[in-house]
Amino acid sequence: MACNVYRNGTGLHKGAMRPLAASNSSNVKSSSFKSRIPPSSNHSPGSAPLRPSKSAGGSDGVPGRVRVAVRLRPRNAEESVADADFADCVELQPELKRLKLRKNNWDSETYEFDEVLTEFASQKRVYEVVAKPVVESVLDGYNGTVMAYGQTGTGKTFTLGRLGEEDTSARGIMVRSMEEILANVSPETDSVSVSYLQLYMETIQDLLDPANDNISIVEDPKTGDVSLPGATHVEIRDEQDFMELLRTGEAHRIAANTKLNTESSRSHAILMVHVKRSVLGAEDVIPSETDKSSHFAKPPKPLVRKSKLVLVDLAGSERVHKSGSEGHMLEEAKSINLSLSALGKCINALAENSAHVPVRDSKLTRLLRDSFGGTARTSLIVTIGPSPRHRGETTSTILFGQRAMKVENMLRIKEEFDYKSLSRKLEIQLDKLIAENERQQKVFDDEVERINLEALNRVSEVERNFADALEKERLKCQMEYMESVKKLEEKMIENQQKHGCDGFMKDKCNGEGPVSSIVEDVAEVKKLLEKEIHMRKEAEDEVNKLKSQLGQCPDSGEGGGSEILKLQKALADEVRQKKKLEEEMIILRSQMLQLTFEADQMRRCLGRNGSANAYGGLDSPMSQVRDSLNGHKTPVAALFEQVGLQKILALLESEDANVRIHAVKVVANLAAEEANQERIVEAGGLTSLLMLLRSYEDENIGRVVAGAIANLAMHETNQELIMIQGGINLLSVTASRAEDPQSLRMVAGAIANLCGNDKLQTKLRSEGGIKALLGMARCGHPDVLSQVARGIANFAKCESRASTNGIKSGRSVLINDGALPWIVQNANNDSSPIRRHIELALCHLAQHEVNAKDMISGGALWELVRISRDCSREDIRSLARRTLNLSPIFRAEMRRLRIEV
Ligand code: ADP
Ligand code: MG
Repeated sequence: MACNVYRNGTGLHKGAMRPLAASNSSNVKSSSFKSRIPPSSNHSPGSAPLRPSKSAGGSDGVPGRVRVAVRLRPRNAEESVADADFADCVELQPELKRLKLRKNNWDSETYEFDEVLTEFASQKRVYEVVAKPVVESVLDGYNGTVMAYGQTGTGKTFTLGRLGEEDTSARGIMVRSMEEILANVSPETDSVSVSYLQLYMETIQDLLDPANDNISIVEDPKTGDVSLPGATHVEIRDEQDFMELLRTGEAHRIAANTKLNTESSRSHAILMVHVKRSVLGAEDVIPSETDKSSHFAKPPKPLVRKSKLVLVDLAGSERVHKSGSEGHMLEEAKSINLSLSALGKCINALAENSAHVPVRDSKLTRLLRDSFGGTARTSLIVTIGPSPRHRGETTSTILFGQRAMKVENMLRIKEEFDYKSLSRKLEIQLDKLIAENERQQKVFDDEVERINLEALNRVSEVERNFADALEKERLKCQMEYMESVKKLEEKMIENQQKHGCDGFMKDKCNGEGPVSSIVEDVAEVKKLLEKEIHMRKEAEDEVNKLKSQLGQCPDSGEGGGSEILKLQKALADEVRQKKKLEEEMIILRSQMLQLTFEADQMRRCLGRNGSANAYGGLDSPMSQVRDSLNGHKTPVAALFEQVGLQKILALLESEDANVRIHAVKVVANLAAEEANQERIVEAGGLTSLLMLLRSYEDENIGRVVAGAIANLAMHETNQELIMIQGGINLLSVTASRAEDPQSLRMVAGAIANLCGNDKLQTKLRSEGGIKALLGMARCGHPDVLSQVARGIANFAKCESRASTNGIKSGRSVLINDGALPWIVQNANNDSSPIRRHIELALCHLAQHEVNAKDMISGGALWELVRISRDCSREDIRSLARRTLNLSPIFRAEMRRLRIEV
């Protein structure tokens, strides 16, 4: 019975304190009804809007006045007889909720109550108007009290405690309340337990455990809530449990009272029903098992409502006034009635809004602290009898009820976070998550293992397939290549035999057959190449695919690392194999290039009826190469582009002699085309060629290398490069080693080209170039002689220029090196190119007086005279004549010999 609660409507009931005059009925109506209007109409009449609060025990509560009903007991047998001639002392106007208390025959006082229950009111109706709203509040989480007050024998126990075992309609409030509670709670989440006590002479006895006869009240210092931890709490699951409990309690009450030599009307019976319910806030819905997405949502906060329904069957109210009258000692009587009178005082204090409410004066008031002036919803039923003999008691009972109507409580929900249940739920959820996580981890590990295994299998399978295919293809290509080479050679030999020609090219050029077969071969090799390219592309794709698969493969710790290393090794092997394959392809391509050249050559020979040189003729190499490629440049150029110069040059250093010779041929053919020369030199081709010449392992290679160098040596820049890299010496050495006329022709051609460079004069001589050139004349082959003659003519021309410019003095190097006899000897050679070169050389030598004497003694004068007379070329003829006439020595000699030019 807190004294600091705001009591709404107290003022409105001031009038109700006093008996209302019958004439003032309109006032009564307005005042009492206003006070009765419940804060919400959601519930049955009188119930407050008890919706779940947002925070447990948070708000200030809802005003809720103590509701008071009056119930009139019907006359009993004794009264029917004794009071037969008298009218009842009360007259009820239930429809107006009024009670008229007769003072005498002509005067009465009217009182208004929240409910007025006549002698005919059924137990059901009494429950519904008095207790039901309270029970509903309790189910909603509020504390509730239903208390019966009245004189002994007026029906308090009838109203509250009737069991109605024979006649269910007779069931009192206790049984009906429990029925309603049990019907509304769910056994899974909620619990209902009961204590049953008797308060007698300020002692609390446990009616469920008679030995427990001095239970103490414990107050929570913070909340002020009272509890009886010593009392027995019995869990109630069904009505039978409860009925049993009530019977036990009643039996114990009778036994206890017998022992104490008292009667039940002297004690207060208190039934406490503890209701515990779990509720969930709307936002705090626990995720269902299937709702995996909310695993990480805010943990739900289950709430628990612990409310208490207190049903009090008070001792007879007459005790307050009749203490000691029934043989008790005064102290005893005082003690018996202490609680009742204390209750009256507290209600008076509360009704008058007094500053002090003597709650602590008795155990009853302490126990009912929350029921009056506290947070509970409280209904009081005052019971009265009809007998005019007890008018006094009836009046005081009515006045007690009137005062109690003024007591305003602040209803507060008894709700708190259910931390226990929350932690239990979270534990369950956590366990589920742990199990799920473990399951998923296992699935993940298995999957990783499976992927690894699959990747390994696939890698090794692809490796196997790839290696097999590679090997097969390589063998096939080799075989095919060997066969086509063999066929080609056979055809060549066949042709040579058929036509009996002695030149390599002539054999090749005499007939349609070989050409067409070569063309076929070329086509075949082309096909092979295309196949090879296709296969390589496929293999590359596969390797790339595997690489990307490996990249995607999830890391599975150390095991995974070693697997990756293995795979990397396998990949490296693949790359090596691929490189090998590429090399083979380049060889095939270069072979193809070579075959294409040869086919072109043949075609050209056929066109000219054949006496061409093997390598784009050195007399005018460029034009011949162009001719040879006339209309057929595209396949060569295409192949060149496909293979790439670097790769071809790399093949010059291949370990395979066969590959080397093919590469050299290809380079030589490429070098015959001016457009390629610069690129070849830039790419280091010249250096590679010179190196090959240095090793000179085989005459075939030497010949082709020299041919290539000869072609490159047509350019002045290249000439200097050749010199710088020791090319003159190399060519000189080669000249002395070679025997084959074609080889010699190439070397001679190369040196002849160098001889035309003014800057190389000294080097050519010092490194044995001139001697080598003259030495090659030994061969006697016209092609070689022609190149020797061209070299001499070139050299003589440069020397002459140097002498004219004053850079050089003294006798010609050619004369010094003993070239003159050969010059004179071949000056009138049958071959016109040789003749022409020598004639020019003689003219150049003759231009310098210093050479004149040697020339005269060597017989050159006669040749010069012949040239000035017979040379078919007019320019050379006149040059010879002019030269002879300009030289005093020649003129003197001619005069001596009587020759005129
Ligand atoms: P109290 O507990 O107030 O002392 P009881 O409940 O024991 O009174 O009632 C006394 C007697 O009156 C009982 O025999 C009871 O059956 C009877 N009685 C009480 N109220 C009624 C009622 N409304 N209708 C019929 N009989 C009643
Ligand atoms: Mg009783």
